[in-house]
Amino acid sequence: MKRILVTGGAGFVGSHLCEYLLNQGNEVVCLDNYFTGKKEKIIHLLDSKYFELVRHDVTMPYYIEVDEIYNLACPASPVHYQYNAIKTIKTSVMGAINMLGLAKRTKAKILQASTSEVYGDPELHPQPETYWGHVNPIGIRSCYDEGKRCAESLFINYHQQNDVRIKIIRIFNTYGPKMEPDDGRVVSNFIVQALQGKDITIFGDGKQTRSFQYVSDLVEGMTRMMSTEDSFTGPVNIGNPGEFTMLELAQEIIRITGTKSKIIHLPLPKDDPTQRQPDITLAKEKLNGWQPKVPLKEGLEKTITYFDNLLKKESTIS
Ligand code: NAD
Ligand code: UDP
Ligand code: UDP
Repeated sequence: MKRILVTGGAGFVGSHLCEYLLNQGNEVVCLDNYFTGKKEKIIHLLDSKYFELVRHDVTMPYYIEVDEIYNLACPASPVHYQYNAIKTIKTSVMGAINMLGLAKRTKAKILQASTSEVYGDPELHPQPETYWGHVNPIGIRSCYDEGKRCAESLFINYHQQNDVRIKIIRIFNTYGPKMEPDDGRVVSNFIVQALQGKDITIFGDGKQTRSFQYVSDLVEGMTRMMSTEDSFTGPVNIGNPGEFTMLELAQEIIRITGTKSKIIHLPLPKDDPTQRQPDITLAKEKLNGWQPKVPLKEGLEKTITYFDNLLKKESTIS
């Protein structure tokens, strides 16, 4: 039995990952400061004696004996990561240093949840791992983008200087059940707006694109990455190459929910990337034939069912 630390384990992706790792017969320690995470997402796992929940901030040192570390702690939605930009950078950078220090001492394998945001507003399309990116270092997204880029640099340098066994994955836009209704990212915003009959808020003309991955495909990709041989460090893109405009996304959600909501256009935030699509050739080759299985329509249907139940439950409580 392995003991696995998941930082950011009470968040959207982390909660799915904790559940998966526990079901695979591991001991799981979930560490979170509950900035965007919620105990409700993982509380049911406490029924297992192999699951532990720790309130801790990754910017502070943390001591434990573990075999593997998944470093996910970091707000991921632009509204949340821009709320306290300095704290976001500290979380990415000091969090990486502390978790790498922990991995160095315990000889644990450590995986970093990096992001497609390291490519910024990409001029190369789709984006392969060899692309260095196009990031505004002083823009409103830089606390997140540059924090994650610095974390990648720390990972590679701890590997080269201290032989730490590292894995870097660059995650592209991922959605699914257990996102928070007020998360602020596009899929949850549109679904909640559609279910509540409110206006659907497209930022800008809606022609910008994203490639959306369902959360179970990400969990499969990240756990496969952790079990690759030590010589393969990544970075490797984990995403679904299916690319859609925000208008197409809104229309699909309107169709599935049958809502009477209208589309409205709000100003496009600064530095909002115009296009994004992963090149997943490397992932397919290195991760034992991994590729995303859940198409957008199917993933949206599952996510809509989740939010529908959640909103009904919340309205009976209040
Ligand atoms: P999320 O906001 O739901 O989860 C982040 C978790 O980290 C939350 O539980 C939060 O409370 C916790 N956290 C934040 N700061 C912390 C700190 N200082 N100490 C301890 N815990 C802290 O976001 P998510 O979508 O689950 O993202 C998880 C990870 O995956 C993040 O690192 C994110 O950058 C990365 N990622 C996600 C996506 C995506 O589309 N979901 C895309 C690219 C990268
Ligand atoms: N660290 C930690 N847990 C550990 C080991 C180290 O949180 O089990 C932290 C430690 O506080 C340090 C950081 O990780 O700030 C980096 O550790 P490293 O050994 O690389 O650096 P050093 O301790 O030499 O500054
Ligand atoms: N977006 C939108 N309406 C919203 C939220 C987001 O049109 O209510 C747009 C946003 O401007 C961006 C895309 O959807 O172009 C994806 O935004 P998200 O915050 O989900 O992810 P990111 O920009 O970090 O990829």
